[in-house]
Amino acid sequence: MSLLTQIIYKLRLYTLAKPFYGGCGHIITLHRVVEKKDTNRIVWSSNLEVTTTYLDETLTYFTSHNYDVISLDEMRQRLMDGSSNKKFVVFTFDDGYEDNFTLAYPIFKKHNLPFAIYITKALIENNLKCWWYDIEDVLLCYPNIHIGDMILETTSQAQKEEAYLKIRARIIHSSFESGYTFYQTLIAKYPPCKPRSQRKAMSIDQLLTLNDDALVTLGAHTVNHYSLSMLQLAEATWEVLECKLYLETLLQKPVEHFAYPYGSMDEVGEREAKIVQETGFITGTTTRVANIFKQHKNHFFALPRIPLIESPKEKRFFKMSLSGFLPAYLHAGKRVVTL
Ligand SMILES: [Zn+2]
Repeated sequence: MSLLTQIIYKLRLYTLAKPFYGGCGHIITLHRVVEKKDTNRIVWSSNLEVTTTYLDETLTYFTSHNYDVISLDEMRQRLMDGSSNKKFVVFTFDDGYEDNFTLAYPIFKKHNLPFAIYITKALIENNLKCWWYDIEDVLLCYPNIHIGDMILETTSQAQKEEAYLKIRARIIHSSFESGYTFYQTLIAKYPPCKPRSQRKAMSIDQLLTLNDDALVTLGAHTVNHYSLSMLQLAEATWEVLECKLYLETLLQKPVEHFAYPYGSMDEVGEREAKIVQETGFITGTTTRVANIFKQHKNHFFALPRIPLIESPKEKRFFKMSLSGFLPAYLHAGKRVVTL
């Protein structure tokens, strides 16, 4: 964090952005909940996890600051009819890990607050290649990586963090075949020596239990968690539609909310939003970091979110994101962030 950002945070200058960039509400992105964070991790991977304590504190923060914690359906309704001016927050989890059921669900139940989980079909079928954890395991084991034209020194923690981003980009920003081949080659050449990352998916029984609870919205997150923009149109459409149909058969109810895998500028554009709209969803959430404005009623397939990340530095970023200060900076002053 730069000195200037620290000063802005200490003096609470970021709150000045709130009337312009704070929006009418926020959609929060989470992935996993753990009892205790491990040390010796790659930050990009450990940032996907928050502790039960932090999640509990975050829910208390929003309820005690006069927010309405609402579902995706309620948010959409409010945006369409302008029925409430009270600030809202929507909690969403991506992927479908087991800890969403075992650790997060009891906390939301305790507070009697709604949340959503976007399910990746291959994850709950135990068929998903969680490359983000595999890369972490590899980087924590080896002092250097040499694959094709990529030579990475990975001795220090800083080098490992940098290498993670380079490998990530190589996997998700190549064509599918090329990225997947690279990932397979990496794992074959550098087998994780101490694979210890927990990546257990929710069971079907757990999913069905959540399905019976009105507090929980189950949405779709594709079949294989590929970056949609890297696929041909027919493949991308299949990834979106097949996940919807699979979940609807399993849950015996419409699945109408979607989250794009990855979801940044490079992974989601007009084509992907059109696919999600035309396959029958009513909302689509990205990972663009920004707040929700009333104008998003015209952009239901490009709803930005704010990640909840747990570390002292990132806690500051969370507050600066909610105020709109960070989104304004990230999007060059743009208020209503869409695609
Ligand atoms: Zn995901």
